[in-house]
Amino acid sequence: MCDGLREATAFPWDGRCGPAWGNGGSYRGLRQPEGGVGVWWPHLSPHSKQALVFQCVGCGTFHLQQLGKASGASGGRVKFSAACGPPVAPECEHCGQRHQLGGPLWAEPIHDLDFVGRVLEAVSTNPSRFHTSERIRGVLSVVTEELPDVPLYYTLDQLSSTIHCSTPSLLQLRSALLHAGFRVSLSHACKNAVKTDAPASVLWDIMRCWEKECPVKRERLSETSPAFRILSVEPRLQANFTIRDDANPSSRQRGLKRFQANPEANWGPRPRARPGSKTVGEAMEHRRRLLQNKRKEPAEDPAQRAARLKTFPCKRFKEGTCQLGDQCCYSHRSPTPKATAEATCTDCPQTPNQNPPGPGATAGPGVD
Ligand SMILES: [Zn+2]
Ligand SMILES: [Zn+2]
Repeated sequence: MCDGLREATAFPWDGRCGPAWGNGGSYRGLRQPEGGVGVWWPHLSPHSKQALVFQCVGCGTFHLQQLGKASGASGGRVKFSAACGPPVAPECEHCGQRHQLGGPLWAEPIHDLDFVGRVLEAVSTNPSRFHTSERIRGVLSVVTEELPDVPLYYTLDQLSSTIHCSTPSLLQLRSALLHAGFRVSLSHACKNAVKTDAPASVLWDIMRCWEKECPVKRERLSETSPAFRILSVEPRLQANFTIRDDANPSSRQRGLKRFQANPEANWGPRPRARPGSKTVGEAMEHRRRLLQNKRKEPAEDPAQRAARLKTFPCKRFKEGTCQLGDQCCYSHRSPTPKATAEATCTDCPQTPNQNPPGPGATAGPGVD
C-alpha cells in the first residue's frame, strides 16, 4: 500500500501508508444489516460499503474486493450474502508479480456534495469571513470535480516510473482517458492523482502507447521486471494524446489555490541544533550559500572524455558483436597492455543513456 496507491479519504485510520486493520470482523454487517454499524448501503450499491484491496507489488495495479453482496428480495427486503472473489489471479495479469492485501477500506462516496456545495456558496458570498477562504474554495472545488464512485487513484509519476518512461503531462493522460471513453478526475488528496473508471488494462495500454512516442531501452530492463513484462505486450487500444478542452478541470483553469503550498522557502524539518552553533536556520542558510553548485564535479571536456574512452578496448568488438565501427567510442585496435579495463559499448556517447525528452515534456501549462 505504500507506492502509489493512496486512499482518497480523510479518515483518521487511513494512515496513507498502511492498510487499516482491525475495525471489526469482515462479516459484521451480515448479521446487522439495519444496525448502527452502517456497513450496508443497499439502496445505492449492490455491495458492502467496505472493501479489501489487492495491490500488485510490481506495477501498483489495484483491485477492490467487496466484503459482501446485497441484492433485492421479494417484499422490498434486501438479501445479504457473501461476496465472490478474489478479483485477481495469484499473479498480476499485467506484470506477473504477487499481490498485497490491504483494508478493509471505505469504498463508497467520501464527500457529501450537498454540504460541500453549501460551504462553497457561503464562502463565495462572504470571502472575508475566513483567512483561508481561497484554500477552502480551491480544495472544495476539486472535491466537487472528483469522481464520487472511484475510491482509489493512481498517480501520474507512479505509472511512468513503473515502466521507466518519461512522464506524460497530466492533461495528456487525462485526454487519452477521455478519448478512450472513460471518466477521469483529480483527487483533493494529491495533485498528480488519476482517478478513473477505466480498467487497469486500459491505463497500461495508454502508457504503452506513450512509451512508443518516447521509447524505453529494452536492453536496460531485466526480463522479470514489471516494465519489461508490461512493455512486451502490444497495446490493444490506440491512445490519443491530443489535448481536449474538458481534460483541464475547471478548478485548474480558474487557477484556484487547490493544494497546500509551503508557507516559506526551505520549509520543513531541520537538523538538530548543535551547541555553540548559530541558530540552525542561519547556519543552514550560510552552508547552503557556501555549497551552492560546489558539490558536483566539474563536467569533463567532451574531447577529453572521447580521448579517455578511446584508451579502453571495445569488449563487443572483441566478441565480434560491435556494429558501431568507426562510430564506436572505444578502441577497436587489438588490446594494448596499458589498458586496464574492458568496456562495452553501452556507455558510448553515440548511444546516449537517457531517453530523449518526450513530446509532452514541455506541453501544456505547468501543473501546480
Ligand atoms: Zn503488476
Ligand atoms: Zn565497439
